[in-house]
Amino acid sequence: MKEGNKKRKEQIIKNTLKASYRAPQFVANLSEYLGFSEEKIEHLFEKKYLAPNWGKHEALLRFDKEISGIERGTVVYEKDGGFEKILGFPKIRRAMVLEPTLKKQFRKIRSLAVEEKMNGYNVRVAKIKGEVIALTRSGYICPYTSERAKVKLNLEFFDKHPNLVLYGEMVGPDNPYVPKTSYEIESIKFFIFDVREKNTGKPLPIALRRKLLKSYGFFQVKLYGEFPLEKAPAEIKKIIQQLGKIEHEGVVIKDPEMLLPPIKYTSSQSNCSDLQHAFLFYNETGRDYMLSRIVREGFQTVEWNESEKDFEKRCMQLGKSILSPLRKSIQDVKEKRRLFEEGRIRVRELETARCFEEYLKRLGVEASFEEPKPVGEEFLIEIKKINKSTHDKTAAIWEGQLW
Ligand code: ATP
Ligand code: MG
Repeated sequence: MKEGNKKRKEQIIKNTLKASYRAPQFVANLSEYLGFSEEKIEHLFEKKYLAPNWGKHEALLRFDKEISGIERGTVVYEKDGGFEKILGFPKIRRAMVLEPTLKKQFRKIRSLAVEEKMNGYNVRVAKIKGEVIALTRSGYICPYTSERAKVKLNLEFFDKHPNLVLYGEMVGPDNPYVPKTSYEIESIKFFIFDVREKNTGKPLPIALRRKLLKSYGFFQVKLYGEFPLEKAPAEIKKIIQQLGKIEHEGVVIKDPEMLLPPIKYTSSQSNCSDLQHAFLFYNETGRDYMLSRIVREGFQTVEWNESEKDFEKRCMQLGKSILSPLRKSIQDVKEKRRLFEEGRIRVRELETARCFEEYLKRLGVEASFEEPKPVGEEFLIEIKKINKSTHDKTAAIWEGQLW
């Protein structure tokens, strides 16, 4: 190793060791709080399974992986001489078929609440050390979403309920993360689907949650109602077919008391629109993601005992949602156009856009930001995210490379 490099490396190691979250006393305290040995905490830091956020939020540590029952995306930080944590949003399991699954998973209760599953990105908003902050699913502090949360929410909520966390979906076109969706939303809205306690992650029962949120004028996901267990599969089928017609995603089926874990179920149109996006960028998308969406179509057609005519329609839709995006991407590359994904943000402060650009860079996302366009008091900024992997693979194939 060159001398300069070695010195630099030593300096980096020294700085890392100095970082307050690695100081021996901090590790000892955190070990006591989490009930993990100090060696385990050190190991988690080494592996970056427990990692700091960036810049001024460095003190908010995030779990990058589920560890001993602590959800991925959980954030932990020092507070009043002790610690506080905000639990990650638990994974929601999927029903592939309705009737057998609901009967089995919810056999202990009599009625089920059905809420709309909205397609945006998962966000938690809480007051952390005096500041209202928006966390992504993985526990990052997204500067864009944090600004939106502060602009859009009635912040009094956090003063009255400092111990509660809002869990919801950011939905709408001014959205840097999720491809186009068909909601009638002008910019972006935060639809809340859960309110949980800090530290324990305990959710409020649905009726209580809805009443509380309403009293603050917050947007909430739609509640279709509570259905007796025996009637729920047929009711949900009807709801799903209606949602599919307007290109909405599906439902989340919940225990009204929020003691049993919820289950999700989606429309065929939503599976297909996921596939359309997945195949545009076929080399970036996980194979499991693609396969599971195709298999869902198989189960749905059999459970719903579809006519030959409806089956043909499903085949056509599924096939098109795979081949059309492939044709588009391959044609684009063949004609020397770059592949990219579009996103958009709307900010009050240009500084937020700058921080967001920096943030994406840190996450390793290659993106270019267009010139801000003023709209009223705010600025719209188009973002192009480069899909290098699919682009390069496709280009190489056109140059004769083998698969
Ligand atoms: P998961 O790990 O929970 O399966 P995912 O991103 O892989 O997450 P999705 O198919 O998007 O899976 O479904 C779960 C997500 O749905 C939740 O993380 C949440 O952001 C979102 N969601 C939308 N509406 C609701 C709702 N009404 N109740 C609960 N979650 C909802
Ligand atoms: Mg989703």
